[in-house]
Amino acid sequence: LPTWLQVAALDQVYVTLEERMRLAIELSRMNFESGTGGPFAGIVFERDTGRVVAAGVNVVVPESCSLAHGEVMALMFAQDAVGSFDLAAQGLPPMQLVTSAQPCVQCFGAVHWSGIVELVIGARGEDVERITGFDEGPLPPDWVEQLENRQPLPPCRVIRDVLADEACEVLQSYKDSGAPIYNPGSDAIA
Ligand SMILES: [Zn+2]
Repeated sequence: LPTWLQVAALDQVYVTLEERMRLAIELSRMNFESGTGGPFAGIVFERDTGRVVAAGVNVVVPESCSLAHGEVMALMFAQDAVGSFDLAAQGLPPMQLVTSAQPCVQCFGAVHWSGIVELVIGARGEDVERITGFDEGPLPPDWVEQLENRQPLPPCRVIRDVLADEACEVLQSYKDSGAPIYNPGSDAIA
């Protein structure tokens, strides 16, 4: 993770969804303004207390890793922090992922397997594609229902459009900055 992400803000408690999303959006902006990756961030919270378990930002380019999206990084660090591959493991409080933008097809799969019981989204996938040109991949059209009714796994509730305008503003700033849109094969297409 970028060194700037060891921020004091991660030691605080965030009560409302808006407070949690505002932090995710702020990290997404800091990430690209710091030159440490794309404009995306995810944070795993204890759903009921608002304590930060782990935060992640997109580090695809600096880490030379197509998997290193903000949501995946947050889930990975959260699972490491609690010492379990399953964030719904017995003894753990319910875990929530707050992400500045809707998960792509990879991150949808990662959320599905993570044990997260609530997914909170800022910008929608169509906004990401429209504003930035990043390709979100072939998400199933019923992806929300798939998460909310994924027997035998516990349901993962999906909450969308939290501070969506603020999340979209960061995406627009990224696009306006001329920073790279690194879809796979884009070199070959260009
Ligand atoms: Zn992703």
